[in-house]
Amino acid sequence: MSSKRPWMPWYPGDYIKDTRHLTLIQHGSYILLIGEYWMRGGLPKDEMTVCRLAGMTTEEWQSNRDVFLDLFGPNWTHKRIDAEIAKWDAMSNARKADPWSWRPTRPAIPTSVRKVVITRDGFVCQYCGTENGKFEVDHIHPWSHGGADTPENLTVACKPCNRSKKDKTLAEWRGRK
Ligand SMILES: [Zn+2]
Repeated sequence: MSSKRPWMPWYPGDYIKDTRHLTLIQHGSYILLIGEYWMRGGLPKDEMTVCRLAGMTTEEWQSNRDVFLDLFGPNWTHKRIDAEIAKWDAMSNARKADPWSWRPTRPAIPTSVRKVVITRDGFVCQYCGTENGKFEVDHIHPWSHGGADTPENLTVACKPCNRSKKDKTLAEWRGRK
């Protein structure tokens, strides 16, 4: 069975701080319970099932359960994990609703290529001709439309021009100006 939440955030500092009093056996069981909680969205109501999920015998459970109950809350709830599950589910729903917003970000243009473009164009915006200001290396045919990281498709642009052009093609951008 594949979990609908295949990985979970882990805050080692907080975990260690909250669990310094645990024995190694208790750590093992606590981690199992946290994992089950994360996958199931909570622990089962039946405490004997919780004992089994913790990997403990009934006797071990009897002498350890109060330590766990203290780490969880009433009825084996866990505020921190509940909050993380809510965050995860919101993120997962957002991703389903708008897969394009989850596109990986564009990798940086290699420095060697940037150098070629800057040497060729100088510190002059190739769109508006300004020699002032912050310059950037812009994709003439936008990267998001398949434009390549090659000197032929790159140009020096001032920041205002680059911000205004964004991911428009040259024709689209000029048409709207
Ligand atoms: Zn410009």
